[in-house]
Formats: sequence, C-alpha cells, structure tokens
Amino acid sequence: MSEQMGITTKKENFSEWFSEVCFKCNLIDLRYNVQGFVVHRPWAMKIIKKMYSLFEKELEKTGHEPVLFPVVIPEKNFIKEAEHVEEFAPEVFWITEAGDKKLEEKLALRPTSETAMYQMYSLWIRSYKDLPFKRYQSVSVFRNEKTTKPFLRGREFLWIEAHDAFATEKEIMKQINEDMIITKKIVEDHLGLPIMFFKRPQWDKFAGAVETYAADILMPDGKVNQISSTHNLGNNFSKVFDITFLDSKGEKKYAWQTCYGPGIWRMMAALIAVHGDDKGLILPFELAPIQVIIIPIKDSALKKCESIKKELEKNCIRVEIDKRDETPGWKFNDWEMKGVPIRIEIGPQEIKEKTLTLARRDNGKKYKIKEKNLIKTLKKIEKEILDNLKNKATIFLKNNIHNAKSRKEVIDIIKKGGYARINFCGREVCAKDMQNVTQGGKVRGTRADKKELATGKCAWCGGLGKEVVYVAKQY
Ligand SMILES: [Zn+2]
Repeated sequence: MSEQMGITTKKENFSEWFSEVCFKCNLIDLRYNVQGFVVHRPWAMKIIKKMYSLFEKELEKTGHEPVLFPVVIPEKNFIKEAEHVEEFAPEVFWITEAGDKKLEEKLALRPTSETAMYQMYSLWIRSYKDLPFKRYQSVSVFRNEKTTKPFLRGREFLWIEAHDAFATEKEIMKQINEDMIITKKIVEDHLGLPIMFFKRPQWDKFAGAVETYAADILMPDGKVNQISSTHNLGNNFSKVFDITFLDSKGEKKYAWQTCYGPGIWRMMAALIAVHGDDKGLILPFELAPIQVIIIPIKDSALKKCESIKKELEKNCIRVEIDKRDETPGWKFNDWEMKGVPIRIEIGPQEIKEKTLTLARRDNGKKYKIKEKNLIKTLKKIEKEILDNLKNKATIFLKNNIHNAKSRKEVIDIIKKGGYARINFCGREVCAKDMQNVTQGGKVRGTRADKKELATGKCAWCGGLGKEVVYVAKQY
C-alpha cells in the first residue's frame, strides 16, 4: 500500500516518512521563498485550530484571560533580564528599518513574550486584589533556528503562552501543577499521546527561570519531543520589570510568576508521528477536520449518501461525500492518507439491505451495521479509536524505557533510541560527558509526576547516586 501511495515506510526512514506525510497530506508547503518559514495548509490548520481551542477552553476555565501583545519588543525591554537575553539573543530577528529610515531603537520579533508582557503587568498589577493575574495569548514566535523541520523546529512556530502572577510563592507550585494537569488532560485524553513530566536539570532550565518542568513525548525514532513547559520564574522577572503590589498590610511586594507554553506545533508533530502509519496520517475522531467520509460505490447510491450525510450533520459530525470522478479504491487510499477516522461505503447492496459498511482508519476493521444504528455505533467507535491509539502509544513508550546500570548500557540504549533510566550523581559535568559520548543523550531530568529514589551509584561516573534521571536524544 505504501508503495502505491509513494510513501517511504515509517520503519525504514522515519524522518523521510514524516516529511512526506507533511507534504503529501497537504499539511504544509515548504516552497515559500523565505528559508525556514512554512506555509500551513487547510488540513493542518483545521487540526491546529482544534488543539488551540482545547487549550484555550481549559486555560479560561482555570482563570486565564486572552490577550494579544505586539509582535515587536523594544531592545531595551529585551535586554533587561541578563540570563534571558543571553539565551535568546543569538536567534532573535531584529527590525532595524522602516521605509528608508533606520529606527531609533531596534525591535525584536518576539522569540517569547516575557519581556513584552511584563512591563505592562507592572502597570496593571497594583494591589493584592489584582492577584492572581492570569493571561494567555495564542500566537506564533520567531527564532532564527539553524536547522528547521516542520512542526519540530521552525523560524516561526505556533504556540500558546500563559503568563501568571501571584501574591505568594506557594501559589507557584500550585500553578505548575495545574499547567501539568491541563497538558495531561488534553494531550493524553484528547490527542491520545502519553507524556512524561520532568523537572529539568538546573543547567537546562528556561533562561531567567528558577526551575523548569516540561512534558516529553517519545517519537517513533526514539528521540523525544518536548511539547510543553512550565516555568517557576520566582520573582526574577518581577524585580527586573518592577511588577509590584501592595499586600493587605499596605506593604510593597514583588509578584511571584510562572509561565506556561503548550507547544501546539510540537503536539502536531507528535500527533502525526506517533499515530501515523505507512498509509499516512491517523487522526483521533475529535481532531479530524473530516470525521466521516462517505464513498458512493455506484452513482445510484448518491441519494442515500446525501440522506446519511444529513443525519450525521444533525448529530454534529463533520462529514463529506466524495463525489470525485475516481474509483472507490483510489478514494479509499486518499482518505486513509489524510487520516479520516471513519469511512462509510454505500453501494447497491447496502441500499437493498438498509445497511452501511463502515471502515476504521486506525485498525482497518470493517463493520456491517444496520442503518438505524449508525449514530450509536459511531459514538462507540469514536472512543475505541482514541483508546486504541493511546494504548499503542503507551505500549511503545513503556517498551522504550530501559534501566541502565553502566556506561555501556547507557551508550547502547541511546544508540538504539528511547530513554535510559539511570541513577545519577546530579552533576552537570557528568551530564555533559554523557551527552558527548552518547552523541546527544541528554539528561531530561527527574520525574515530576512520580517520586523515584536513587538505588545505586551514578551509572555514568560511578559517583554517589543522588537521583533517578532519564536520558534520551531530543528534537
Ligand atoms: Zn555522574
């Protein structure tokens, strides 16, 4: 089948397969004439908008309100937080001219928005009564990445950033937990993608943060994809941007802050990569731009196709009839490639028997059902599809976490792909050495969703084991 559709198989060359799916399913077009910038096509945007809406709904439920900040950040804001500027400066795009005049102050295209938003927070937040203060924006950000790959690394990519301020330090951890719950709920229960939360090592935290927590998804080639992160900013930024409030006793205090970035682009990459197969995309029912495609086997079936379509639309199911002048087999392949979860075939036999033939994209299973049971069956299958996708991905993740007790074991696991789970001394120099020797095996951190205690010596240097960490190559 994959040969017929001209796709490289996922096993043979994952990277090539991924690029081909992105292009052949009309998700993106790389032919735009600015290198590293991608055109998003309708099939991708419809999925992406659904992801945005899932996150926006949860964020608003938890007290976040939407804002939209300018894409430009004046240089003087941008350079205020030393660690932050050091990290981001090498990849910032600057606007230096307007028309034929040089700007008095150059403007950064936001690589992230702390330095844009927090000067306004300092104007808006006055009293403890203004707190907690929670805002988010759904935007794209710009970074001059050296190498780019659709949905994984781009010079412009899509995300959400939520920036929260609190009166007390203890609210920070509560917020980080809330962010992790939102991530888990959407990514696992709606997208069907199992995640692991890590507290990143100090040397790998967000620039300017006190600590960083992040969610990783294991990709089919054994490399991990960080799909979101949530940072404890302490009052590092509030001191720099003067975000203060008067507490109930009238004393001036610095606000405590967190920021949370669900990477919509990164999730799209995981959705394509983890669920897809050699025929193309496989989409969960909820995310699919078209959930049910109806294929008339003969022209004489069109009338019945229309009536089934109406019934599905009445039940808020996104449905189309494929009336193109092509063979049913060609249409089957085309919709399978695009990942449409359910196909309904209607021909003379179905008309005669008042039945419908359903086919599932995720496992290829076919059902012959009575017409009157259509909605009931779809509701049931919808859940089964998500469960099946999630189960498969969970098994893959479990099968690719290996305990390693020695350097050799770590090297072998990282070479093969997946996570090496090790006792670790907690030293940056040991992590750096491991990364060099394994050619990219990075310490992802300690589990944030589970308490794990070291049971032996550091698998890499033999020093005292202080914690359990996971090591993997990353995107
Ligand atoms: Zn060590």
